Amino acid sequence: MTEATGIVGEFLSLKEETDADLLTMQCGDFYEFFAEDAEIVADELELKVSQKSSHGSSYPMAGVPVDDLTPYLKALVERGYRVAVADQYETDSGHAREIVRVVTPGTLLETSDADAQYLAAIVADSSARGDDPGYGLAFADVTTGRFLVAEADDTDEALTELYRFDPVEVLPGPEVRADDDLLGLVRERLKATLTLHETEAFAPRRADHAVREQFGERVDRLGVGEPAVAAAGAVLDYVEETGAGVLASMTRIQAHRGDDHVTLDATTQRNLELTETMQGEREGSLFATIDHTATSAGGRLLKEWLQRPRRSLADLERRQESVAALSTAALARDEIQDALGEAYDLARLASKASHGSADARDLVAVRETLSVLPAVADAVGSNPDLADSPLVDVLKRPDREDARELRSELEDAIVEDPPSTVTQGELFREGYDDELDGVIERHEEVREWLDTLAEREKRQHGLSHVTVDRNKTDGYYIQVGKSAADGVPGHYEQIKTLKNSKRFTTDELEEKEREVLRLEERRGELEYELFEELRDEVATRAELLQDVGRALATVDALASLATHAAENRWVEPDLRRDDRLEIEQGRHPVVEQTTEFVPNDVRLDEERDFLVVTGPNMSGKSTYMRQVAAIVLLAQIGSFVPAKDAEIGLVDGIFTRVGALDELAQGRSTFMVEMSELSNILHTATEESLVILDEVGRGTATYDGISIAWAATEYLHNEVRAKTLFATHYHELTGLAEKLPRVANVHVAADERDGEVTFLRTVRDGPTDRSYGIHVADLAGVPDPVVDRSRDVLERLREEKAIEAKGGASNEPVQTVFDVSSGQFRGPANADGGERPTAEGDDPKSTLDPETERVLEDLADVDVNETPPVELLSKVREWQRRLEE
Ligand code: ADP
Ligand code: MG
Repeated sequence: MTEATGIVGEFLSLKEETDADLLTMQCGDFYEFFAEDAEIVADELELKVSQKSSHGSSYPMAGVPVDDLTPYLKALVERGYRVAVADQYETDSGHAREIVRVVTPGTLLETSDADAQYLAAIVADSSARGDDPGYGLAFADVTTGRFLVAEADDTDEALTELYRFDPVEVLPGPEVRADDDLLGLVRERLKATLTLHETEAFAPRRADHAVREQFGERVDRLGVGEPAVAAAGAVLDYVEETGAGVLASMTRIQAHRGDDHVTLDATTQRNLELTETMQGEREGSLFATIDHTATSAGGRLLKEWLQRPRRSLADLERRQESVAALSTAALARDEIQDALGEAYDLARLASKASHGSADARDLVAVRETLSVLPAVADAVGSNPDLADSPLVDVLKRPDREDARELRSELEDAIVEDPPSTVTQGELFREGYDDELDGVIERHEEVREWLDTLAEREKRQHGLSHVTVDRNKTDGYYIQVGKSAADGVPGHYEQIKTLKNSKRFTTDELEEKEREVLRLEERRGELEYELFEELRDEVATRAELLQDVGRALATVDALASLATHAAENRWVEPDLRRDDRLEIEQGRHPVVEQTTEFVPNDVRLDEERDFLVVTGPNMSGKSTYMRQVAAIVLLAQIGSFVPAKDAEIGLVDGIFTRVGALDELAQGRSTFMVEMSELSNILHTATEESLVILDEVGRGTATYDGISIAWAATEYLHNEVRAKTLFATHYHELTGLAEKLPRVANVHVAADERDGEVTFLRTVRDGPTDRSYGIHVADLAGVPDPVVDRSRDVLERLREEKAIEAKGGASNEPVQTVFDVSSGQFRGPANADGGERPTAEGDDPKSTLDPETERVLEDLADVDVNETPPVELLSKVREWQRRLEE
């Protein structure tokens, strides 16, 4: 394909061997990128591009020193590139190069942040009929060795699981590759790189073999079907092929069951700002607010809890019990957290050991972390409340005796404070290995002999100005000052003359020199061998390290929940199996941190499971609803909650549709997104779900919007029967409370005194006073004609339950009547008083001419509170002009 020869030619032909996006090739002390790759890398990482000429052609070239490769690789991979690394090795005839590893987002070991880093595969069930086949999924985190499989009944569920694990790289199976809709959603909603791994890796038999090879017969006990096994097999194959070399740390396969967890779709995770805010910041997220963990593994686990709330009452009560005990035992908690402060990330260290990249300091980190376990256990054991709590079981899960043995093994082996590079020597304690001790002893003897040589020579031969030293070219030498140089003994052999001195050697010195070199080499070799042995030994204990790491992380996460509860006066919610949701003086967990928060109640039960929330703009509707969702979610991770008292019936899913602003950025039409999410909620929510709808229907013309909101409410109430909170600015919906038995109105109160509006932030029963908006418009300086006309329109709406617009074809008022009792629109009344059927079926808009309709839409879209009076006035003038035309 290419004419290039020489080093660039080699680069280009290696490049053809790999499907990685970029290739970097070792050339001596540098890793180089050439040609197009050089330009991409230079662009991304602000590297300097130089030109490499090769047989008359010139190629861009960018390079990094061998020792600096890792940070560059990391940066490229974090930008979504897959980078192949070709190493240079010696051969008989010079050297050759070979691709040793492909570093990809899902197989990057050198991660610096504490987040989980999942590599996922998704495989469709090809044996299923129908258009929604069901899926098998696998998730592996190479940095910690975690490996899970999951199953999903349909596309929505599969996406929910993908969102939940938030993988950085996804391997779609053969069928999934052809599914543009699914791939589109994955691309849009996940920050993952999509990688098309060879389809053979997904083949059922090959995958099954790979999975058994890795995990043994445990696979049969997982109870998952062929697609999940295929996904797992493909992940293993991929990890192996990319050369990450961490398969050994993947010791355990677990099944993740969606049914055990609260369904949280991607929109809900984002709306509730679980791990990042709508603006994409960590700060201000629910996680950042409640996170007081002392270790990165603890933080990772706490985040996982938030993303995967549980449904099992027994599990949750166990966590609650521990949190309760820890929240009162403040001193013991401090002690535990201090001890945890000394812990390192054991699961990550286990992966590094398996990969062979752990250095001596990493093994020391393992040793130190293993000793945190008994320290934490002691702190728990010596406090009666804690000793009586499920924390004890958490700490019992890892094999404490094995952990103690490994720790003492490491203590006997490695010195207190070893150097970071393995080849530097001085890693091992005396007594660890006899041969090494022998070598070191002899080495020191010879060194001692050399150190004292100068003194001896002075004395024996009556010389002054004698030093013994060593350098690269001369090796060891005896240096004698010029004045004394003539008096050296006969067996001295001169090797160099300097300005003020001469250098000599002797047979004996040369012999000692050879011995020193031999001993140094042997010592280095031996230490390296012993170190590798020890590291492999640690790698074989990966499972133990993961267990200990998990136990410490669990204690850390529970202590963090306890700390937050104690510091913020949170209470232990009463978890129940029924439909009740009663929160007394609830607060929003994040907003309460920065505001003088006005607490609010909520009450839902079998007789009242649908609240229509009204209130003026900015009064606190959205906050109120999110607060309810957040409290339920916190309760279902086992946390205390921000309230005075809370009874919480467990839910199987939380669904939200909040605001529309954020969707604009994604380029999908806001209304389309709004409706597809509404559709998802109506399909997936159950009687046991909590549904939060915030201004749904706002994205379209008023009549459309009301109709959709109305119908969705009926459906949720009658068919789904989910616990629902629905904030709406469509006042018409408050009429539903009269019609549907379990619907109730609440409103956020506001107060106006002396021209000042005060938002009381207090939620009260009953609908809001609808004229309030107009009043605010008046206060805000909206021109009188507009305010007066609004009052007019409002009057009519009240009396006739009709929405009217002026300026039809005949310039007569046209009316469309929204009948609250039937929830339907009727056509305008005729002059004779009879009803004229709406033209073109039920579409009320067809009675208006298109321009009038557009004016109406514009009118509906104007946010009176947000628009300056002058602009409003000019808008009104413009509408009048358009209507007159
Ligand atoms: P709405 O949805 O009604 O327009 P929001 O829920 O967005 O109103 O709230 C508007 C502002 O009021 C936000 O800045 C929010 O932080 C604040 N707020 C809302 N509820 C409370 C409350 N209970 N106590 C204190 N501040 C609140
Ligand atoms: Mg709002």
